[in-house]
Amino acid sequence: MRVGKLRVKPRSMSVTSGKGGTGKTTITANLGVALGALDKKVTILDGDIAMANLNIVMGMTKCEINFFDVLLGNASVDQAMYTNYGIKVLPCGFRFEEVHETLSKIKRERVEEVVNEILGQTEILLIDAPAGMAETTLISIAAAREMLPVCNPTYPSLVDVYKTIRVANVLGSWTRGLIVNRTGKAADLLVDEVEQFMNRALGSMPVIADIPEDPKVQEAEREGVPVVVYDPECEASIAINELAKVITGETDLPYVPWEDREIGETAERLIRALTGRRV
Ligand code: ADP
Ligand code: MG
Repeated sequence: MRVGKLRVKPRSMSVTSGKGGTGKTTITANLGVALGALDKKVTILDGDIAMANLNIVMGMTKCEINFFDVLLGNASVDQAMYTNYGIKVLPCGFRFEEVHETLSKIKRERVEEVVNEILGQTEILLIDAPAGMAETTLISIAAAREMLPVCNPTYPSLVDVYKTIRVANVLGSWTRGLIVNRTGKAADLLVDEVEQFMNRALGSMPVIADIPEDPKVQEAEREGVPVVVYDPECEASIAINELAKVITGETDLPYVPWEDREIGETAERLIRALTGRRV
C-alpha cells in the first residue's frame, strides 16, 4: 500500500445510527463489496454482537468460527475471517448461552487489538456497529478512526443520529458526512432538509449518500446476495457505488453554495428544539 514514498494508512470506519433498522448492516455489506470492486482490500466486521446478521446479508450461513470466538479468546482473527464477494468478512455468531456473558465482559482493549490486527492486512475496515448508546456501541465507534452515520429521512432518526455524531466527536472519531438511507416520495423529510439541519446543528455535515427506498434491497436480502451484486443497475446499488467513490476520493460531492439554498421552516424548528440555538 504505497503511493510514491508515502505509506497509505489503512482506514477504519464504524457504520452507526441511533436506532436499529436504519440500514447499517445493508450498507456495511454493500459498501464493502462496492469498495472491493474498486480494487480496495476491504474487511467488514460484525460488531453488532447481540443482533449479528451481517453474515446473512453476505449470504454466509455456515461460519462456525467467528468474531464471537475471537472476543472470547477462543480463536484468532485469521480463523474467523472468511472471503466472499471479493472482500474479507469477520462475521459474528450468536449463542444464547454465551451472549450475555460475552456482552458484559467485552473489553475495549480486546476490540482495539482485533481492529489493529485486521488493519495490518486491509486497506479499509468497515465495522457494523450496534444501535443505541450501549457500551458495545461506544466501543465500536471508538475502535474506528472514522464514523459513517446512517439515518432515515424521518425526525426521530435524525435526532438520534445527531446524538450519535456528537458522541463520536467526544470519542475522537471523525465524520466525513452523513448517509441518508430509504429516501423517496414517502419520506418525512427531503434530503436537503436533513443536510440543512445537520449543517446548522453541527457546523458542517454534508450528506455523502442519498440511497433511495428500493424493493431490490429486500429482494437481494432474501436471496442472500448483496444488492450491488444482485442488481448492480438498481437505484440503491447505483447510490452505494457512488458512495464508495466518495469514500475513496475518486469523486467528491457537488459543491452547492450555502446561500443559494432555501432554509425550510421545519429544519429551523428542529435545530431550535435540539440545540436551543436560533438560526
Ligand atoms: P440495521 O442494520 O440498521 O438494523 P438493516 O440493514 O438490517 O438495518 O436494514 C433493515 C431492513 O431494511 C432490512 O430488511 C433491509 O433489507 C431494509 N432496507 C435497508 N435499506 C433499504 C433500502 N434502501 N430500501 C429498501 N429496504 C431497505
Ligand atoms: Mg444491523
